[in-house]
Order: sequence, then C-alpha cells, then structure tokens
Amino acid sequence: MRVSPEGPYRRIGLFGGTFDPPHWGHVKTARGAADELALDELAFLPAVQPPHKRHRRLTPFALRRQMLECLLPLDPRFRLCLVEAERSLPGTTLETVEALRRQGFTEDRCHLVWLMGSDSLLELESWHRPDDLLESIEVAVLPRPGYPPEQAPERFRSRVRLLATPLVDLAAQDIRAGRIPLEEAVPPPVARFIRQHRLYR
Ligand code: ATP
Repeated sequence: MRVSPEGPYRRIGLFGGTFDPPHWGHVKTARGAADELALDELAFLPAVQPPHKRHRRLTPFALRRQMLECLLPLDPRFRLCLVEAERSLPGTTLETVEALRRQGFTEDRCHLVWLMGSDSLLELESWHRPDDLLESIEVAVLPRPGYPPEQAPERFRSRVRLLATPLVDLAAQDIRAGRIPLEEAVPPPVARFIRQHRLYR
C-alpha cells in the first residue's frame, strides 16, 4: 500500500535507500523505529539512482520496488513511497522532502520523520545542504554496527534523535557478493523473489 497525505493526522516515518536488496537490517530497525517513535506508518522510499551511488550499477528500479513490496505484509505499518520515481527526482533527500510537502505531506496534516542508519549520519556532511535538510524534517538515526554515531559532528548529533533500535550487522553489498546465505539475510518472500529472478549471481 502506498503512503498518502489523505486521512486522519498520522506520524509517518520515511526510510530512504537503494534497497538492493532490502534485508533484515532494514526490517528490524524499521519495526524498532516505528515502535520507539510511535509511528502510524513507515514508508520505504526507494531511490532511483542516489547521487552517492551514481558509479554503481543498481538492480533495475522496478525489481527493487517489487522486493520492497514483498516486505509490506510483514508489518501493518509498512508502506511504499514512490515519489522519487514518479517525479524523476535526482535523489537528494532535501528535494524529496520538498516534493512530499508540495504533495500535501505538510506538518498540519501529518508529522514526518526521516530515518537513516548511523553510517548515513557519519556521511551527512557530504549530502546536499544537510543543514537545510535538518530544518525541513525531523531526522532519527538507527545505530548500525561499525558506525558509532558519537563520531558524527556535534552540529548534526545535537539535531537528530538517536534511536535504540536493534543492532543488525547486515549490509546489502554482502548479500550481493554472496558473502551471507540469502535465507539468513532477507525475509523469505524476498529470498524467493531473488531466486526466481536470478538476481545477484
Ligand atoms: P549497500 O550495502 O548497498 O550500501 P545498505 O545495506 O547500506 O546497502 P541501503 O539501501 O543503502 O542499504 O540503506 C538504506 C538505509 O538503511 C540507509 O539509511 C542505511 O543507513 C540504513 N541501513 C541499512 N542497513 C542497516 C542496518 N543493518 N542497520 C541500520 N540501518 C541500516
């Protein structure tokens, strides 16, 4: 189901990424964040070709989107947000948030929280206009093994909410490289999809 600005006031988490493929690290931290932040909905927001991954060939968007659809039955709060594909956005998070505001996701109708792993917090300096991003939306950080949030610059740390979500030592690149058995790394419907479509061989 797609996330929509219509309906009663809700707290909505936005979890952006390439999801190539989506794995248990995404699912477990997303659930934990939804609990801790009392979110009504948590929308996975697949990037078409994010600026920081422009030198990597990604699995076609349509397939990454279908893998995310496999996650939706796992939690009643899970949603999909396709704003980046629909608007051919180049993928900077600030532009994505601005586009969502224009679509009606305004603070009088819903509260938006942008979720990011602590690896992203450590790289935030290199993002497009990070200070404006932190002004435009609440940002919550999912701790990730190997990326201590306390190493982020104080000016970012003081403006994000650090969550106590489960630590999951998984990365999509290890799955693509076959370093982890698929069944351990991704939920069963995603594993079936990957095998059916012969991805990451
Ligand atoms: P890759 O290995 O291809 O770089 P990834 O596993 O980091 O991929 P992405 O799709 O790039 O996955 O990540 C989307 C978002 O999820 C990012 O904010 C990232 O920090 C976060 N994330 C990914 N894996 C984890 C994890 N194990 N724990 C916490 N956050 C994670």
